[in-house]
Amino acid sequence: MNIPQIMERMIKMIKKLPAVGPKMAERLAYHILKMSQSEIDDLINSMQMARQIMKCCNICYNFSDQNPCQICSDITRKKHSILCVVETPQDLIAISKVKNYHGFYFVLGGALSPLDGIGPEDIRINKLIKRLKNANISEVIIATDTDSKGEVTATYIAKIIKKLNIKVTRLGYGLPVGGNIEYADEVTISRAIVGRQEM
Ligand SMILES: [Zn+2]
Repeated sequence: MNIPQIMERMIKMIKKLPAVGPKMAERLAYHILKMSQSEIDDLINSMQMARQIMKCCNICYNFSDQNPCQICSDITRKKHSILCVVETPQDLIAISKVKNYHGFYFVLGGALSPLDGIGPEDIRINKLIKRLKNANISEVIIATDTDSKGEVTATYIAKIIKKLNIKVTRLGYGLPVGGNIEYADEVTISRAIVGRQEM
């Protein structure tokens, strides 16, 4: 049986979302057909509203409904003078759920990947250095993923930050090698923060 063209189009659009394979795209598309008109309106409306209202914070580059974001505007964090560097906004969310970290963040927007042609100028390394030069930060915790791209990025950034005479640490034991911070649970991240090691 041929799938009608109008469904093919929806499946093709859904497949563009990250981590959605062909089977899942089909499943979601046919699920949407079964939804009521009001549910579909709410779904579309929530996406459009979020897209309009959410903006990138000019200090940490996380998405927020205000700029600077709530975290960067929180003056109680100043006394900690620690900055946690992550690859994505989702990683920031994972770490922000942990109760033993009260410092600031910086979202790189990816990781170095020479094989994919992603170099230092393609992620926010220059903006990170600028931030470190202008803010009173005594320690940078590098919380990039533990896969090869994350490790390459961590080593590269650590070298630069050390030249600024700022202490650099890397999240410690407990995080699975090759893993993604976004999917690590709170207890694991919390332990990794306590066990962070100087680079
Ligand atoms: Zn911010």
